[in-house]
Amino acid sequence: MKIIGLTGGIGSGKSTVTDYLISKGFHVLDADKVAREIVMPGSEMLIQLSSNFGKGILNEDGSLNRKKLGSIVFNDPEKKKKLDELMHTRILEIIHERIVLLREEYENSAEIAIKSDEGKKRKVIFIDAPLLFETGLDKSVSETWVIDVDDETRIKRIMKRDGLSRDEIVMRINTQMTRDEKKKRADVLLDNTGDLEKLYSQIDQLLESI
Ligand code: ADP
Repeated sequence: MKIIGLTGGIGSGKSTVTDYLISKGFHVLDADKVAREIVMPGSEMLIQLSSNFGKGILNEDGSLNRKKLGSIVFNDPEKKKKLDELMHTRILEIIHERIVLLREEYENSAEIAIKSDEGKKRKVIFIDAPLLFETGLDKSVSETWVIDVDDETRIKRIMKRDGLSRDEIVMRINTQMTRDEKKKRADVLLDNTGDLEKLYSQIDQLLESI
């Protein structure tokens, strides 16, 4: 079974690619969703975070006060490193657990899979991970797909999607791993400078060869 890690900078088209893959019946694990799930009120991770960064990072209802935590790590590289370490380790664990579960599920239904069109969809699990390379998750996948788009195009698309100003978007882009670095590490590069049809046809071609 192939595990494919999908990544790309903000506004490159990760959600768009994920939605398309899901519509085709493929399974996509969402690393950001896992990151949100592990800090639910009462979770082991919240206990660890509050023992590292103080009870002040919790709201009265026991949920995570992201602003507070953000302000604590913002200008403190050591604290930021600790936070990333705690979060990334747990996210990787959960993703691995889910892959094991899906593998079992797929193997149990292998007989149906062979007999139907479902076969291909069970040969691969995608992981949508904005921080695929930064977290080291790329080392656990069979292949990395990087969605690439020039900055001007993605700035325009994000402005339209989020209503942010150009400066805010540029600031966010500048905090991320550079486009060139991501491209260098890609096994497969998806060019999303064109229209959706062009993007989908690249995906269709790649899916053909799975
Ligand atoms: P990401 O998840 O990487 O941040 P999205 O998939 O949300 O990026 O794409 C950013 C925005 O650009 C979204 O509003 C999306 O609908 C739009 N978009 C993505 N690809 C295209 C494309 N090929 N043509 C036009 N708009 C696109």
